[in-house]
Amino acid sequence: MDAMLTLQGVSKRYRAGDGDSIVLQDIELSIRRGEFVALLGPSGCGKSTMMNILGCLDRASSGRYLVAGQDVATLDSDELAALRCRTFGFVFQRYNLLASASSSDNVALPAIYAGMEAESRQQRAQQLLTRLGLGDRLLHKPAQLSGGQQQRVSIARALMNDAPVILADEPTGALDSQNGRDVLALLQQLHAEGRTIVLITHDLEIAGYAERIIRLRDGRVESDSGPVPRPPQELDRHQLPAVRQLSLARVWEAVQMALVALQANLFRTALTLLGVIIGVAAVVTMMAIGNGSKAEVLDRIAAMGTNLLLVRPGAPGVRPTGKIATLTADDARAIASLPNVNGVVPMRSGSGTTLRLGNKDYQSEIQGVWPSYPQVKSWGLSQGAFFGPAEEERQAAVIVLGQTVVDSLFPLGQNPVGQYVMVSSIPFEVVGVMEKKGANSFGQDQDDVAFVPLSTAQSRLMGQRYVSSITVSMASIAKSSVTEQLISRILLARHGSEDFQVRNTASLVEMITKTQNTLTLLLGLVAAISLLVGGIGVMNIMLVSVTERTREIGLRMATGAPVGSILLQFNVEAVVVCGLGGLIGIAIGLLAVWGLKLAGVSAVYSLLPPLLAFSCAFVTGCVFGYLPARKAARLDPVVALAAE
Ligand code: ADP
Ligand code: MG
Repeated sequence: MDAMLTLQGVSKRYRAGDGDSIVLQDIELSIRRGEFVALLGPSGCGKSTMMNILGCLDRASSGRYLVAGQDVATLDSDELAALRCRTFGFVFQRYNLLASASSSDNVALPAIYAGMEAESRQQRAQQLLTRLGLGDRLLHKPAQLSGGQQQRVSIARALMNDAPVILADEPTGALDSQNGRDVLALLQQLHAEGRTIVLITHDLEIAGYAERIIRLRDGRVESDSGPVPRPPQELDRHQLPAVRQLSLARVWEAVQMALVALQANLFRTALTLLGVIIGVAAVVTMMAIGNGSKAEVLDRIAAMGTNLLLVRPGAPGVRPTGKIATLTADDARAIASLPNVNGVVPMRSGSGTTLRLGNKDYQSEIQGVWPSYPQVKSWGLSQGAFFGPAEEERQAAVIVLGQTVVDSLFPLGQNPVGQYVMVSSIPFEVVGVMEKKGANSFGQDQDDVAFVPLSTAQSRLMGQRYVSSITVSMASIAKSSVTEQLISRILLARHGSEDFQVRNTASLVEMITKTQNTLTLLLGLVAAISLLVGGIGVMNIMLVSVTERTREIGLRMATGAPVGSILLQFNVEAVVVCGLGGLIGIAIGLLAVWGLKLAGVSAVYSLLPPLLAFSCAFVTGCVFGYLPARKAARLDPVVALAAE
């Protein structure tokens, strides 16, 4: 028979206050393959400490410990985890079952880290539980089982990976005598199969179930009944698959595990989710509103005509008013000869002019314009025709009415064309009616207007030869800046100083786009901050969760979970919360956008914000999940297991 577990001069010291307290001192011990050993000693003599060292949950302060001839000091933490996974089965006094998992899930736990497939895992767990008489308790949670049943579940778990060595620390300590005897009989049975059993107890009667008794006192071996000579026995071990590396399947398993863990604390999960949901929904909604208002403003500008340049009197920076007298119709003629200019229309407006028809008065805005007006402004007539160059030439008293003016003066729907209206005591013949245009983006009624030839307005109505503005329509918008420069140059040459302004709707679009982008960015930023707050909430909850589940982490480590897998598990939990919150947030955000649109707020659906918000939430999960996950993975298995 060969040595399975060998302790050579093993000591364990704890740093306690001023000096070291020595718990184990120079232990020399060899446990052979297939032995049933009881470690017997009073409380506090170091039995559990010894078991932790034997089970590779803790390292000795000095001395060597060999498992099947291999010095554990040469193994790194993942190799130790693998060794624990395949060699040791632990049975604890307090069972250490996961409260949120069913019996069969508890039993199946160690096989996750051995790389067994989910289906064969469940099958084997059920077989083991059935064998231990718990076939009808597969789906019960630990709280629904008696102490004896819970201990049998934990023994089944110890057998899950077919561990050749079972380490049982006071396994009957919390059980009544009958259940205690059953558990001990079970251990004897496992021993008979060829397993090495180390039973830790303070009770001589219980130690009697073992074939070899080692007494401990004050950290030293007091006596050892010695190994019983026995023919070698081969343990018929269940074939374990090779340990899987990080793979999609393992991540998927971690996701499922995370979902179970999150379900176990539904209310808390919901609150955490809420933070993320609000953040993501805010990003989606805010960006949609920002983009919507941008689109709306751009639409309005496009409606104003993007191929138009507007020349107004007054030096740059001076607010143009009708009183600044620098532009003339001759300027307009000069501009008309420039390349890329399609049409030009100078305008002289006089607001608050009274139009009279019979005994009806109506105050409107009279604009003196060139006959090119309908063409330049792309504004057609509904009745009659616009006046032509001949009328402009002879300062004819003709007028074209806007629809609002027609509605006021001809309420009964008479045909206005051919009628005469009085403006400043001069009878004007109505020659046409403009098409109805409606209100502009500033809410102004564009149909409350009447047009007369510019020459007529200047000489007969207003007595002024200056114009209020010149509108230029361009053939190609692409050349607008060149055209703008040419206009500036020609006017500068004519006036000798820059007493005019050229405005371009394209530059207006550019400016407004910039402003709107800043606004959208600002809204996005505010939303991103709420996402960040959500992320901090996730971290907070995950830290609480790690603290709360320290024992679970210890247990997972004891059953062979490598550090990477603990890291993965907690990170995945955070990512699942954020991912789920992200999806729900997007749904709520899109719904909110839809609602806002129904309510008349302009909002634009686009793919980018939801994508952005989701990836933000996802990254938040990774970043804020990492810290708690690292905290969990760095826990010492012994410390974690001892946590309350
Ligand atoms: P037993 O299991 O035999 O009752 P333990 O092995 O749990 O005894 O503990 C042995 C001694 O080691 C006790 O005096 C205990 O106070 C001390 N001890 C155990 N763990 C620690 C620790 N983490 N830090 C300091 N002292 C410890
Ligand atoms: Mg103990």
